[in-house]
Amino acid sequence: MKQETITDRLAILADAAKYDASCASSGTAKRTSRDGKGIGSTEGMGICHAYAPDGRCISLLKILLTNHCIFDCHYCVNRKSSNVRRARFTAQEVVELTLNFYRRNYIEGLFLSSGIIKSADHTMEQLIEVARALREDHGFKGYIHLKTIPEADRALVEQAGLWADRVSINVELPTDRGLTDLAPDKNGGQIEGAMARLGSAMIEAKDARKRFKHAPMFAPAGQSTQMIVGADGASDTQIIGRASELYDRHRLRRVYYSAFSPIPDASAVLPLKRPPLMREHRLYQSDWLIRFYGFSTSEVQTATDDDGMLALDIDPKLAWALRHRQDFPVDINLASREKLLRVPGLGTRAVAAILQARRHHRLRLDDLARLTRTVTKLRPFIVTADWRPTGLIDTANLRARLAPPPRQMELFG
Ligand code: SF4
Repeated sequence: MKQETITDRLAILADAAKYDASCASSGTAKRTSRDGKGIGSTEGMGICHAYAPDGRCISLLKILLTNHCIFDCHYCVNRKSSNVRRARFTAQEVVELTLNFYRRNYIEGLFLSSGIIKSADHTMEQLIEVARALREDHGFKGYIHLKTIPEADRALVEQAGLWADRVSINVELPTDRGLTDLAPDKNGGQIEGAMARLGSAMIEAKDARKRFKHAPMFAPAGQSTQMIVGADGASDTQIIGRASELYDRHRLRRVYYSAFSPIPDASAVLPLKRPPLMREHRLYQSDWLIRFYGFSTSEVQTATDDDGMLALDIDPKLAWALRHRQDFPVDINLASREKLLRVPGLGTRAVAAILQARRHHRLRLDDLARLTRTVTKLRPFIVTADWRPTGLIDTANLRARLAPPPRQMELFG
């Protein structure tokens, strides 16, 4: 059989990694090698950012150590029963690839995940070895995100945090039922247990660094997780609730939502079609409402329709406002920041600009037009010095007036 070159394996293992959406590199500690020690930095110019066709950031060297796997998760292209080409890197090969790509300025860091080979412990050891060698043997200062394997020994999972900027453990599916049905080798309790331990190790490390300047850092960019959307029957209400629980329990930096992609030779228990990408987008918007706009989980859940799903044609903040019309209109010149953030069409930047501008004079619609992208969406929900929406908020067809017009389906392509 023909020996696969490193380029062949890179093609296979980079392609196999594309299903993982949790690759953002934000929020880590600042490190540079401008002093001539080591190489790379977590900040800086000339870093290559690439985006997959569906818009996901793939600016890191994002690969699997191997796509061999002893587990058989139905939704995963790398599951043991899948008929895909398999490949494997050694830890040393990943180290060399990362350094070569970094030196050529193709990447800003490494996102490394893996199928499970031999055992969870063996795989975790290999992942850690990559990060250790990069940091210790090569003085690599760039960003490292390690996917950790919850089934591995707890000491190994915790070691990952000593070398990586960010660690993540995928909860995979929003409900325990989904996990049992679609990922029979995984255990929800084990996944959450590992997340909890990582969370505690992060807190302890932060605490230690407050007391001892040279105490080691532990995953300074925090931990994240990913949920697959649309592979099981979980509703958006359930997904929003689950994400919220995870943020609260484990102080996660991010929950990523990944619309399920149908895979070759898919198991019969999976849906035939992927959910609309817009569903993923709406879930991210709902996530932002909770994290940055002061909405509670239950408030966002009331933005869903009777079937528990977020509307695809309007964003969750508008959906919420249409269901809570009694809270509007909001006076732009008097309302608190919290109230302004609830107005559909006003983002955090626009609200900051309004708060600043209204110190000097009472704002009129014209002023708002300069501070926001459009006032059309705002009009029914606001009062300004020269505008009051008499009755507009109560009109039965307000939703239709504010939803974007449906797009003609393309016949070809
Ligand atoms: S353990 Fe990971 S790589 Fe293996 S089948 Fe499950 S999701 Fe895929």
